[in-house]
Amino acid sequence: MKRIGMIGGMSWESTAVYYKRVNEQVRDALGGLNSADVALRSVNFEEIVTLQKAGAWDEAAAVLGAVAVELEQAGAEMILICTNTMHLLADQIQAAVGIPLIHIADVTGRAVRDAGCRRPLLLATRYTMEQDFYRNRVETSFGLEVLVPDAADRQDVHDIIFNELCCGIAKASSQARYKEIVAKGVAAGADSVILGCTEIGLLVNAGDFDIPTFDSTLLHADAAVRLSLQAVLPRVAAVA
Ligand code: GLU
Repeated sequence: MKRIGMIGGMSWESTAVYYKRVNEQVRDALGGLNSADVALRSVNFEEIVTLQKAGAWDEAAAVLGAVAVELEQAGAEMILICTNTMHLLADQIQAAVGIPLIHIADVTGRAVRDAGCRRPLLLATRYTMEQDFYRNRVETSFGLEVLVPDAADRQDVHDIIFNELCCGIAKASSQARYKEIVAKGVAAGADSVILGCTEIGLLVNAGDFDIPTFDSTLLHADAAVRLSLQAVLPRVAAVA
């Protein structure tokens, strides 16, 4: 089994979901007391948010690149950045190490395309919804047309992430607001929804919407487990 390297803490509320998910997936695949081989390095999110707000992206890349190096030195055989937003720095972080980085936009975009959807509504931080690094990658690589909420709705989606979900708060009123925003997206032609922030699954999930729903956290964690078990599963199958 390959060791999964996680750059976590952004926020830890969602890193906990990643940690649980990879372990559940390995147990489901291998049975018994099998669990995931994980190296986790969890940063202080307050420091990262300060850099985000200052637009100090190069400094943030240096911090997270150094964390990736630590994970590689700890024996990690792949890197997960456990946040969509900080994939803004994916190229710099990948350049710091010799192990593959599993890009969350690739995993999510592929899942949307493979499900036969074409026009996903992207719910995420304002960084992810408004800058090119995520939408362009999903659109160019997978032939999708990504829709985003209007400016006021984007602000609400963003504020609920940072002021509530990253602080462990899930309010019924915020859940209702997200549902309202998705309904507007459907009226504008969305055929699916991407939960493109790793905390959104703490508030809403596939059961809340009538359209296919893609949770980037779960898809990302599952992709890591697939890579981790690539070499193990044929052996397990042969033994069984
Ligand atoms: N976890 C969130 C995401 O997936 C936001 C936290 C961050 O700004 O990194 O984008």
